[in-house]
Amino acid sequence: YPKGTALTVSASLAQIGEFSFILAGLGASLGILPEEARDLILAGAILSILANPFIFGLVVRKSGEAASATPAADASVSAAAGRAVLVGYGRVGKSLARRLKAAHADFVIVEEQADRADEARAAGYEVVTGNATHLQTLEKAGLTEAGRLLVAIPEGFEAGGIVHRARDLNPGLNIIARAHSAEEVEDLRLRGANHVVLGEEAIALRMLAGGSAAPA
Ligand code: AMP
Repeated sequence: YPKGTALTVSASLAQIGEFSFILAGLGASLGILPEEARDLILAGAILSILANPFIFGLVVRKSGEAASATPAADASVSAAAGRAVLVGYGRVGKSLARRLKAAHADFVIVEEQADRADEARAAGYEVVTGNATHLQTLEKAGLTEAGRLLVAIPEGFEAGGIVHRARDLNPGLNIIARAHSAEEVEDLRLRGANHVVLGEEAIALRMLAGGSAAPA
């Protein structure tokens, strides 16, 4: 990925998440984690949360130029290894499909609504009509041999089901999923997604960077 993207993602993931409090609390209540360890986790989390806005501010300033460089991002799309499976041909999926095509990437779309699937076919894309939570649909789309899975549907927990099944089918798969809440991000990660993009946060970052991606 371009330097700007890499730095922004690193800064976003650097702080210790609130989920660690839940795990530490559970561990302490079950008597398998000493109270001191829980306190240390809490102290570490507070420090990292305090430091995060400053690190983030620095990264956003430094990566301003890189973030507006859409062609570089597109180049990384085509350079990624293997065939991609794109789930959902809606608002996000359509934009992804255009960009993948522009980058000459090899990909197939999985869409459950027949009219949307027809629309994608009419636009020249390879399409499997079906629900991606179903094993047969994923197999039909060639997920076992694919290099990447892009889950571009709005329901994060349904996406979690797709991610879980896909991870079972193809352990080496690079899974990138869309989410709309911190809970969905956590769930998708736990289910095996390599990268989760929180929609609202991505919009905010783009706005802070002072640019928006040009429509393909
Ligand atoms: P949008 O809400 O505009 O981002 O569109 C989401 C698209 O994803 C719609 O075209 C849905 O029909 C499609 N979709 C949602 N869930 C699934 C699923 N499980 N499998 C395949 N396509 C889906």
